[in-house]
Amino acid sequence: MPTKKRELLVVGNWKMNPPTIGNARKLFHDIQDRLGTRPTAVRVVVAPPFPYIAPLAALSPSGRVTLGAQDVFYESGGAFTGEVSVSMLKSVGTRFIILGHSERRALGESDAEIYKDVLQVVGNKMSAIVCVGESSRDKQGGYFNTVEAQLTAALKGLDPAAFSYVTIAYEPVWAVGSGKTPAPADVYEMKLFIQKVLTDLFGRTPAAKVRVLYGGSVTKYNATELLAEGQVDGFLVGGASLRATEFAGIIACAREHTRK
Ligand code: PEP
Repeated sequence: MPTKKRELLVVGNWKMNPPTIGNARKLFHDIQDRLGTRPTAVRVVVAPPFPYIAPLAALSPSGRVTLGAQDVFYESGGAFTGEVSVSMLKSVGTRFIILGHSERRALGESDAEIYKDVLQVVGNKMSAIVCVGESSRDKQGGYFNTVEAQLTAALKGLDPAAFSYVTIAYEPVWAVGSGKTPAPADVYEMKLFIQKVLTDLFGRTPAAKVRVLYGGSVTKYNATELLAEGQVDGFLVGGASLRATEFAGIIACAREHTRK
């Protein structure tokens, strides 16, 4: 019997864009219009800035596009001025939360905070997309140590039952927004490495539940080979997710891949 292929995930991280809710509605409509209505084996997630999540969720009642968030605070409520909790995000229709993005780490987010975020997200039965990735590559392979340390710090001691709520996004920092990408074979090597680290830490069954995405300058031109040779379970897309045609092109590559 053929094994059932895992659903692929294509996540658009809009970062601090676009500037108004009017622009956000238009972009969201433009993306939805290009997706068609037939069910496919690719789940599309858009992670807009916080203020846009609720209004955009209202535009996608059938869930053709699932809403995500770009970050969260690890406390469940109280005197934390300016912060947003998991339950707030859940109540406005968010299903996925990106954690530990390199741009947040660059602003000072620590491994300890990311770990608390992960516990809060999966504890509320929401999906955490945990970003890991090296700043640069060295010939000695030290970047594997970086990724291993980030994975261990973010997930240590997690209940193996929670792993159905965990996705890892491998995002080499040097590839984010730079137009550069690793060779697909290097992406595949890192995917295997991530699976090995998770297997060593938690055992084969929880590790096998975890999707590994790739992120960093994904376009409709490199998506097909990153899927075929990199064997990732989807993408975290930044810049290209702000252009509906480009984002839809990446999703089309993923859909095509699931039909092979
Ligand atoms: C990102 O922000 O997660 C990202 C991968 O950005 P880009 O696709 O623009 O490199």
